[in-house]
Amino acid sequence: MTNIKVIAFDADDTLWVNEPYFREAEDKFCALLEDYLPLHSVAAALFKIEIRNLPLYGYGIKGFMLSMIETILEVTEGTASLEMISKAIEFGKEQLNKPIELLNGVETVLDALKGEYRLVVATKGDLLDQERKLQKSGLEKYFHHIEIMSDKQEKDYLKLLKHLDCKPEDFLMIGNSLKSDVLPVLQIGGNAVHVPYHTTWAHEVVENNVAHDNFSAIASIDEILAILKK
Ligand SMILES: [Mg+2]
Repeated sequence: MTNIKVIAFDADDTLWVNEPYFREAEDKFCALLEDYLPLHSVAAALFKIEIRNLPLYGYGIKGFMLSMIETILEVTEGTASLEMISKAIEFGKEQLNKPIELLNGVETVLDALKGEYRLVVATKGDLLDQERKLQKSGLEKYFHHIEIMSDKQEKDYLKLLKHLDCKPEDFLMIGNSLKSDVLPVLQIGGNAVHVPYHTTWAHEVVENNVAHDNFSAIASIDEILAILKK
């Protein structure tokens, strides 16, 4: 990875903690419906509804909240109390108000790279929520551009590269999702580095042993500095 000019970072579970907050909300949600179904069946019903709603709502907490409400209606066959609906809204709002917890090494890495590369955030999620998190994170100052994307498929990355006036071979994407941050970027001729996080949403999990000249996997984000020097 020698000619990199633009480095894009995924945000959730790459720069800061995200998925554990979803798991926490989901656990509380499953407990709310345990009189109707075993916990794992509630989780499965919710996941199915979330995936079904993705094309309509996109990624993020607001869509998750609507899917929780729909799951309540489905699981209770329309007999749910308003109290249950209000709990689901409360779980979502709690999640929207979580503090930002930066992952280890993030600031050191951004600080080391900021003069030498154009740094970009490329993330999915709700526009307002991601803007708020970025502001709360104190990391805005490092970034040349913030792209909040409705999806991370090849066409979405091509659009981003066009906007940045950057060739795929000069572009490096760093993120925790092989499916969203790595595979589509390699597919369009870009470079990608995978930094796995301990928890991954089922929708983002792919069985894949990536072997590609433009790909590296690292255990923690600070290892990126050594890779860029190679
Ligand atoms: Mg992520």
